[in-house]
Amino acid sequence: MPVAFRNKLPLALLVAALAVSAVGLVRVFADEYKSGIPWSEPRVIDPGASGSVPSDAVVLFDGDNLDAWRGGNRWKIEDGVATASGGGITTKQSFGDVQFHVEWAAPEKVTGSGQGRGNSGVYFMGAYEVQILDSYDNKTYFDGQAASIYKQHPPLVNACRKPGEWQTFDIIFKAPKFDADGKLVKPAYMTVIHNGLCVQNNFELLGGTSWDMAPKYTAHADKLPISIQFHGNPVKFRNIWVRDLTTEEPTK
Ligand code: MG
Repeated sequence: MPVAFRNKLPLALLVAALAVSAVGLVRVFADEYKSGIPWSEPRVIDPGASGSVPSDAVVLFDGDNLDAWRGGNRWKIEDGVATASGGGITTKQSFGDVQFHVEWAAPEKVTGSGQGRGNSGVYFMGAYEVQILDSYDNKTYFDGQAASIYKQHPPLVNACRKPGEWQTFDIIFKAPKFDADGKLVKPAYMTVIHNGLCVQNNFELLGGTSWDMAPKYTAHADKLPISIQFHGNPVKFRNIWVRDLTTEEPTK
């Protein structure tokens, strides 16, 4: 090392040490950032034990009856389980943005293939379907398999359990918004958790899900019922509840 530089080394170290200390001092005396938005306090909700119903949920089926649904009298209820039969069911209550929970099981006895095996579905607002299907070792078009947004987006992964085994869907649905002229202002979004795995990540819907038409939006009310499809297969259901998210945005 040249002598001239060696003599300057302690000075350089001193300058560096002072600089580091100065940064530290700025941090100590800097003001904490506060947004200034006077949020209201989020409500305290008892989530219940794992697998139970949160205290603020609207219970749609707890094993006793399907009184919360139109068409529920057609389904068979046995041992706390409702089996799809004779037609779909539709909630008597209307909903907008929601967190929806359902447990379902495809028939244990495997019959049919593709779309004909354990087919059902959860419909929001009568227009937007998350597919229920026995997609365990059962090939079909990917945007029609279990947990797809029907004909719009396949699930990110196939999280299906075997036929007869209980499966969970937790769906966060954001309703679309239309202006007074029926023009779309904000599209619908869906997040789907299938058996604990995120399989739809805030997917922006292109419109209603249809078997024979390209997706498109048709104006509708801010709140509408939720339906569960009967597609000819005796799919089983239990523990269905929904939380209204339209009232949960903390006020400012
Ligand atoms: Mg279906």
